[in-house]
Amino acid sequence: EANTLARGEIEQITGLTTNNLDAYWMPFTANRQFKKDPRLLVKAKDMHYTSADGRQILDGTAGLWCCNAGHGRQKIVEAVQQQVAELDYAPAFQMAHPKSFELAARLAALMPDPLNHVFYTNSGSESVETALKMALAYHKARGEGSRTRLIGRERGYHGVNFGGISVGGMVANRKQFGAMLAGVDHMRHTHGIAGNEFSKGVPKNGIEYAEDLMRLIQLHDPSTIAAVIVEPVAGSAGVILPPEGYLKRLREICDEHGILLIFDEVITGFGRLGTPFGVDYFDVIPDLVTTAKGLTSGVVPMGAVFASSKVYDAFMTGPDHLIELFHGYTYSAHPLACAAALATLDVYAEEELLTRGAKMAEYWQEALHSLRDCPHVIDIRNIGLIGAVELEPIAGEPTKRAFTAFLKAYEKNILIRTTGDTIAMSPPLIISESEIDTLVGTLRDVLKSLD
Ligand code: PMP
Repeated sequence: EANTLARGEIEQITGLTTNNLDAYWMPFTANRQFKKDPRLLVKAKDMHYTSADGRQILDGTAGLWCCNAGHGRQKIVEAVQQQVAELDYAPAFQMAHPKSFELAARLAALMPDPLNHVFYTNSGSESVETALKMALAYHKARGEGSRTRLIGRERGYHGVNFGGISVGGMVANRKQFGAMLAGVDHMRHTHGIAGNEFSKGVPKNGIEYAEDLMRLIQLHDPSTIAAVIVEPVAGSAGVILPPEGYLKRLREICDEHGILLIFDEVITGFGRLGTPFGVDYFDVIPDLVTTAKGLTSGVVPMGAVFASSKVYDAFMTGPDHLIELFHGYTYSAHPLACAAALATLDVYAEEELLTRGAKMAEYWQEALHSLRDCPHVIDIRNIGLIGAVELEPIAGEPTKRAFTAFLKAYEKNILIRTTGDTIAMSPPLIISESEIDTLVGTLRDVLKSLD
């Protein structure tokens, strides 16, 4: 079996030196460990990466849940190349370029009414900060400035900026940094509810967890609460699905109490669940939707927040020469990102990728659940083209079996992801049945080899 390279060999292939390995402070990575035995990707096409040592690695994760159209798609490549030659950058404040309007109109048309307005960002984290600020400013604009409290969930992942880690509930992402936003509460997560193990798709038990929101409303008084933010399906925390009826109940409670509902669809957006958005899958319409990742199929960084007409209209009052929202980024609506997104939407439409997950879901589900009898497997979860295999923790050991599985899987030419004791997968939406077989078959071999 081909293996990761010794440092000397990497230098030979890539021209990298020891110095420049050390200069890059890598994100969410054990830097010292990684740099002893680096994993370098140098090319990508369709379903595969090429590693520095020349192996074809099957991409079981669409990069980081983002390359939904697969890699190196000609149409997207050409659109970006053409755009950079034609208009490399345009100021985003008090100026614009035509593609930014064209893209917003096409995005709004993809979303159900009344989510008709699009605000651009450059990442999922920025989309989250934007949505939280919009929610606070919305209430202020309507004369309800007392609504400042934000509610998230335990084990929620909403990016890494201060608003996002405050409403988020990933302990490791918070505890290193001390102060968080004040006035934030958390509902419980819905992971590990008894009777939901090995559910196929949405689990049956746990709708009562939505009543956590009622308890927080009673505790604080609704007139203090601005917004609730949840991922329709929590990805980074280990693929946690909402119990049947749970999201609908959150919507009802928010409606009754004048609270905005934000769906963080950075992962679930753009076809991941077999529908264009989680909004469609769960038939629940929030007031704000955060997206990124699949918007450009990961090719150029870009995010977008979808706002309902109710939210947008609340800002479009007063004299029309005044700026409505004091927020934005130098790179909002970046021309390269807009060009990449427009071409990505073309590819999605031409190949019907935003609903392809629904056609593949059954095959994906049965393949994943065939791993049930492998050693250490304590749960398997799936929805659309997302899958998770949860492994039994090793008592008293910080080392996670799932991370060992990730390393072994990479040696065997498949890319998976891990978070805690869970292996997560989210392949490009172009994956074939035989590629699903390869991914799951290789993972089976890996699981059988774990101590
Ligand atoms: N929200 C959710 C639900 C996410 O899954 C992620 C990234 N995995 C983010 C926000 C942050 O996105 P980014 O890394 O692009 O800032």
